[in-house]
Amino acid sequence: MNCQNCNTIIENGYALCTACELRFAGTLLQLARDVTPLHDSLDATLHPGGHAPVRIQTATPPTPIRLDVLDLIDMLDSTARELWRCLDGIDALDWRRDPRTEDLKATLIKCAGHPKLATFGDADLYMHVIDGIARKVDAALDPPEQRRREIGTCELCGTMLAAGAADQWVTCPVCGREQRAQTVKLRRLKTLCWDDSRRGSAAEIAKAFTVAGITLKRNTVNVWRRRGKLDVTLEGIAYSSVYRLAISGEPVDEPPSDKARPSEGLDE
Ligand SMILES: [Zn+2]
Ligand SMILES: [Zn+2]
Repeated sequence: MNCQNCNTIIENGYALCTACELRFAGTLLQLARDVTPLHDSLDATLHPGGHAPVRIQTATPPTPIRLDVLDLIDMLDSTARELWRCLDGIDALDWRRDPRTEDLKATLIKCAGHPKLATFGDADLYMHVIDGIARKVDAALDPPEQRRREIGTCELCGTMLAAGAADQWVTCPVCGREQRAQTVKLRRLKTLCWDDSRRGSAAEIAKAFTVAGITLKRNTVNVWRRRGKLDVTLEGIAYSSVYRLAISGEPVDEPPSDKARPSEGLDE
């Protein structure tokens, strides 16, 4: 006999090997822990804070209830109850006569600890269905990180804040302070610019300024550098010297008399 899931040879005639049984039970227990956060994240006016205890309020909820989460809870609920009946050998068609009234969380815990979890015929099938639901639950509770990027630190407590590209406002998860995303980004840029030791290439500096809302072309930085207006060392150009010029409205046009020299290889 082989494990239905991983094909490891098992001697006892079980459907799942011990490692797969433990993983299956572990997934069921994790889902039991996720039931409460899932119900909490039904409210669409709350940004899902995932497994973290603090939630972020969004400005405009699309609908009062997250239907995707509602569907997910429904699917988890029916699958868990079906699995439990299966484990106890209750015919799927007889579910109306199933007298049990345990809630979803209790049902998942009962399944995880069920003595037949590794031996019943459809163990592998249910393991895959449950795995699929668990992945969806994770995605609903902890949206992929790349959607929200670090933009700078909280003005009150210094916590690193993250925001989506379209977010106008961001709420600190630690102290609750609401701040404009643009202000946070600009403050981060200023931190770079106040520190005379922070240096970078023309491209890096132009990008940092533009991300923070001050449009600055790499070429502009190079023009200023050629004119000797910037603090340049072997480590690169000082952010602080670029900031002074950008804020003072330094003209960027090359003067016609400029003794142009080949700049290839210098402008990186
Ligand atoms: Zn296995
Ligand atoms: Zn804070």
